Amino acid sequence: MSKSLKLNEYIRPQLTAPNNAKKVLLHSCCAPCAGEIILAIQASGIEPTVFFYNPNIHPAEEYEIRKTENKRFCEDNNIPCIDADYDTDNWFARIKGLENEPERGERCTKCFDMRFERTALYAAEHDFAVISSTLGISRWKDMNQINQSGVRSANRYNNVTYWTFNWRKQGGSQRMIELSKQEQFYQQEYCGCVYSLRDTNRWRMANDRPRIKRLVKFYQENKQVEIIASDSSS
Ligand code: SF4
Repeated sequence: MSKSLKLNEYIRPQLTAPNNAKKVLLHSCCAPCAGEIILAIQASGIEPTVFFYNPNIHPAEEYEIRKTENKRFCEDNNIPCIDADYDTDNWFARIKGLENEPERGERCTKCFDMRFERTALYAAEHDFAVISSTLGISRWKDMNQINQSGVRSANRYNNVTYWTFNWRKQGGSQRMIELSKQEQFYQQEYCGCVYSLRDTNRWRMANDRPRIKRLVKFYQENKQVEIIASDSSS
């Protein structure tokens, strides 16, 4: 598919959720990752409900801007958005001892587990048979690591299934960028936790690049999106 296509020129794939479910609880990490997935689910006649649970994001104002952007998009599109806890103490307790793990390592597995376990719990308590996550649309993430965590979390409950669809495929990655520019979403430059902020800045300094300036960068129309090796969305 051509990268020069505009958003309204794409044809979204017809999706079928596990067990032909007609509603999905979608764990969301941020607006850029969530926007396209929400619209793709809707376009297939499935109702998404967004579950924003990300106690990993540091510091608090970074958490707030990512959440606010996500809620704005949901409100504009009449999508229910559940604002879950920002229980950072529990997050730090859970990843204790893994502070120096690289991205995609064991710290990230624990981070995914924590977020998906809470998503699966909410699903079990509120009659959602299917959950999924926006995390996998980022090409900097390990899809297998995310899916294994999602399946493990859903398997704690008899009636919850994790949907392992690869949202990057069939034009998903390109539509994500186009939609982000159209919506002028906030564009974060590190995954989310204090350790990813530290490590991305270290990489930048080692490569003669300026340190991250948080809260200032937004996707723009007519601008090539710059992707840097150690940068990632959450
Ligand atoms: S790098 Fe990202 S996925 Fe890994 S622990 Fe930090 S916030 Fe979580």
